[in-house]
Amino acid sequence: MKNTIREEVKDDLLSRGFSRRQMMRAAMIFSGGATALTLSPEMAFAQERSEASAKVRIGQNECWTGPMAPGAKAAAAAIAVSNRYSPNDEHGQLVRAIAKIENVPEDHIMTWPGSNEALARSVVAFCSPTKSLVQADPTYETSGRAAKFLNVPIKSVPLKADYSHDIRAMSTTDASAGVIYVCNPNNPTGTMTANSEIEWLVDNKPSGSIVVIDEAYIHWTKDYPNNTTSHLVAAGKDVLIMRTFSKIFGMAGMRIGYTMGRPELLAKLRLHDGGALSSQLPVPSTACAIASLTDTASIAARRKMLMDNRAMTVDFLTKRGLKLIGPSEANMLMIDWKTKSSKEMQAAFKAQGVEIARVFPTWPTVSRISIGSKADMEGFFAAFNKVVSA
Ligand code: PLP
Repeated sequence: MKNTIREEVKDDLLSRGFSRRQMMRAAMIFSGGATALTLSPEMAFAQERSEASAKVRIGQNECWTGPMAPGAKAAAAAIAVSNRYSPNDEHGQLVRAIAKIENVPEDHIMTWPGSNEALARSVVAFCSPTKSLVQADPTYETSGRAAKFLNVPIKSVPLKADYSHDIRAMSTTDASAGVIYVCNPNNPTGTMTANSEIEWLVDNKPSGSIVVIDEAYIHWTKDYPNNTTSHLVAAGKDVLIMRTFSKIFGMAGMRIGYTMGRPELLAKLRLHDGGALSSQLPVPSTACAIASLTDTASIAARRKMLMDNRAMTVDFLTKRGLKLIGPSEANMLMIDWKTKSSKEMQAAFKAQGVEIARVFPTWPTVSRISIGSKADMEGFFAAFNKVVSA
């Protein structure tokens, strides 16, 4: 442990009440391995799958197509100069591009090989054995998994009847909350929580806590770009905003994400590795991200395609009398089978070559599907006709 945890970090963790065993686990999170395989639902799902042979892959909320054309071109060009660690200060260019588009200062931005990394670290940095993680139920699992791994208390607050976060209940559930995690739109439901509620939370949360706002899917939503919360970062509030290039930008395998927050909050996320992981991003991935960020035409085209394919899917399912959780504003949809378990439906669809999402234990009869291309959805419909009429 002496070799894996620096003295400064040990002091930090011990002073916040972590045991030696928990310290070891914190070190695992900060060394990346635990994040990749134990804590990230997507990576774990990908590992579990014995073969990538499904005809229709709508299980992991990936984009149905690859990186945007200017991004792919920039990445290809970057390969040719990747004999250099930093051929053209790609990392600096990415940070400057994000700062411009989000209207936040450059020192309020930290990049990662995917935002799962930052979600897990936020739990180590701001929770402790006496400072809980507050989250919705159901929601995206990485923060909760990190808390469980570290034996940090977890307060799960059910979504409201309209499937938005119950912000008022989340604000009062634990006066010594460390992190209040708000996923907007929420995964797995795709549903939105009003920005006015999030702003209220930021102003009324327990002191000493921070609000982590995960906007992984924000680009897909109806009101984008007017519904982001970057202004809370610019205003110096106790928030961390998580973003990823894994969704609309079609770069899940290229592993880039970023966090926006006040510099002293970001410093806590990098305390344990001195920032090594945040700055050592592959050059081709970074070049791709820079070129994609400003490709507003592709963003608009993908948004339209998603909305069309989602509407087509909602129509197909509601005509067949299925209850849908929603409305979803993201590239996912939840179906309540009522009389069938999501586990058996996952297996039934798999037998038809269609991969749907993992099981969300809170709702044992509800499955999540991602919205893919028109062909993906037609493949899902064909499998549905076999599975449901069987
Ligand atoms: N946040 C949410 C809500 C997600 O659904 C995902 C991935 O599915 C992530 C974060 C992590 O994305 P990545 O680590 O690929 O950046």
